[in-house]
Amino acid sequence: MLAAVFSSTRNITVRDYCLRPLEKSELLIKVAYCGVCGTDRHIYEGNASSSLPVILGHEYSGVITDKGSKDAKFDIGNKVVVDPNIYCGYCRYCRIGKINFCENLKALGVTLNGGFAEYSIVPVSQAYRVPNDFDLRIATFAEPLSCCLRGIEHAGISPGNSVVIIGGGTIGLLMVQLVKNAGASRIILIEPDPHKQKLGIELGADYYFSSIEEGIFEKINELTDSQVDVAIECVGNKDTVDQAIKLAGKGGKIVIFGLAPKDQHITLNLQHLFQNELKIFNSFLNPFTIKPAIDLLTQNRIKVQKLITKQICLKDINNFFHNNGFAHNIKVLIINNN
Ligand SMILES: [Zn+2]
Ligand SMILES: [Zn+2]
Repeated sequence: MLAAVFSSTRNITVRDYCLRPLEKSELLIKVAYCGVCGTDRHIYEGNASSSLPVILGHEYSGVITDKGSKDAKFDIGNKVVVDPNIYCGYCRYCRIGKINFCENLKALGVTLNGGFAEYSIVPVSQAYRVPNDFDLRIATFAEPLSCCLRGIEHAGISPGNSVVIIGGGTIGLLMVQLVKNAGASRIILIEPDPHKQKLGIELGADYYFSSIEEGIFEKINELTDSQVDVAIECVGNKDTVDQAIKLAGKGGKIVIFGLAPKDQHITLNLQHLFQNELKIFNSFLNPFTIKPAIDLLTQNRIKVQKLITKQICLKDINNFFHNNGFAHNIKVLIINNN
């Protein structure tokens, strides 16, 4: 089969790849679509680790073409979406339900071969069926949405809250919709790109600001009567994290969702935290949130069609990464139409 093999920093080769035989507990999936994620870019650029060599791509959907055991509860021809994160089930964290801290965590598309390929071997435990009439492009959003659901759990939004979302990429625009569904009364998006601003409004934001806009703090304080209840950072940069902390009102919550580069630090004013009783959260992976994410997508409660701004063929993936095709796109899908 054809696969995009990542072998070292900035080095992806699309080549013929020989699949090993299936184990009893595995399925063979013909990949239909695979989303390209910030994590793939971090790995490609050497800012996040992975196994080497490995087939990247962890946001994928497809159709089952073979199974290791006749008893598997799936049938050949079933449409599925994949949860890439594989928890061991027996380490001390798995045994107390904190599976995202699993000491033996493996991930398809990071430490095991993933979805930038014609086919993928997937453990039965990682496959989730979707309805046969469901668009497999939409299904690729299950993984990023599941991660957002973890972040939203921490945000604990109450009806009537004022929420600021910083960053209007895929994650920010999923967050806008989740925050809206949670009953926020004012949703403010901070994003410089006019197309993303417009999409943000269409998907549920009430106001938008450009990050560098003059007097942005005063304007947001005026809109919210100085009470931003939750600020969600979806960029992964120390300056926007700093902005989120400054924007949160008294008793406010800050969810730092974006993944910042390894060497970034911020300075906190401790009296500011003290006097405002600020609560700062992070969000790591997607424990127990894939199923609700799939339900939100299949029931059309979260809209993702307009987030797909580009589709490219598997064979062109090297070009795409090499020329930083991420810029100006929201979600890019690798399409596998062979
Ligand atoms: Zn991802
Ligand atoms: Zn574990």
